[in-house]
Amino acid sequence: MIQFLDLKKITALHYEELHEALERTLKSGWYLKGEETRKFESAYAEFTGTGHCIGCGNGLDALTLILRAYIELGIMKKGDEVIVPANTYIASILAISRNELKPVLVEADINTLQMDDSKIEEAITPRTKAIMIVHLYGKCAYTDTIGRLCKQYGLKLIEDNAQAHGCKYDGKRTGSLGDAAAHSFYPTKNIGTLGDAGAVTTDDTELADMIRGLANYGSAKKYIFDHIGINSRMDELHAAVLSVKLKYIDKENERRRENAKFYIDNVRNNRIKLPSQEYWESSVFHIFPVLCERRDELKEYLSHNGVQTDVHYPLPPYKQNCYKEMAGLSFPITEKIHKEELSIPVSQVLETEERETIAHLLNQFE
Ligand SMILES: *Cc1c(COP(=O)(O)O)cnc(C)c1O
Repeated sequence: MIQFLDLKKITALHYEELHEALERTLKSGWYLKGEETRKFESAYAEFTGTGHCIGCGNGLDALTLILRAYIELGIMKKGDEVIVPANTYIASILAISRNELKPVLVEADINTLQMDDSKIEEAITPRTKAIMIVHLYGKCAYTDTIGRLCKQYGLKLIEDNAQAHGCKYDGKRTGSLGDAAAHSFYPTKNIGTLGDAGAVTTDDTELADMIRGLANYGSAKKYIFDHIGINSRMDELHAAVLSVKLKYIDKENERRRENAKFYIDNVRNNRIKLPSQEYWESSVFHIFPVLCERRDELKEYLSHNGVQTDVHYPLPPYKQNCYKEMAGLSFPITEKIHKEELSIPVSQVLETEERETIAHLLNQFE
């Protein structure tokens, strides 16, 4: 069986170094808010090209903390609107609704699989405070139109960079394209740790200080609590692991991109729509998404022939039971993507022979 994502093999790539990092932390006697976290935060800030990186518990917390901090700073208030893609992972939207802000969903583009930037302006109202872009599947979602709209309407630009570590737009990394960005280091992400971890990056010092406090019970000074915070910190063990992983991200993303290029160059089947060359240029391929009208049959056929695939995602967030108030919404392109998307193995540990087998199978599907 060709696995969709072989985490054991991914860990094995840097086994010795990871082992050393874990042992160093184990022996240090210091497990939270220490040297490992500071080192990783500083390396990741430099990597993304931002002034601040704040480690936290996971990607959802990172997103939630950004919005929470804007509320504490008086920049947003309950009931304000945040524009977000209709076809994102539920976490992007949870972060908005958890803060009692209102998610305003915008339709996707069938070619980029990202928010259609020509449909954003009509969604802006006097209550709109931010646009949250999601670099879904590892593809950069930023466009000059989005940047211009944020300036023109005075909106904050927030990046959900859970899926696109290391991706670049015009020479700048995702995570540095907006006012603040949230990152997840969940094990399956392009940079993944051995459990949960996340981070916020930003150039805004006031925001960074607020987030650091909020993530530590709302305290900037020991035992002094100025805000109602949460406990969301990055463990030293995860920081030590992430410092190792960070060193290899560009190389590993390059391997993902090579695999993606191989599919783009070698799969020819008019039943299957592949990402375009243009898409390839701006993606680090967290996911290699293809569209197929008979998606479930294609999935079954690949599985029968020894290839594990996945679907990202079977149901749009506004059709989920938890968001009954959005049940009336309709986004035909988003729904088409959810019905037709299939994720093909593309990871940094996919073997050359494996991708050849997969391309051959895709060509033979009828
Ligand atoms: C994974 C993911 C998150 C949440 O990250 P966690 O670390 O699992 O909380 C948020 N947004 C997107 C798009 C994701 O893929």
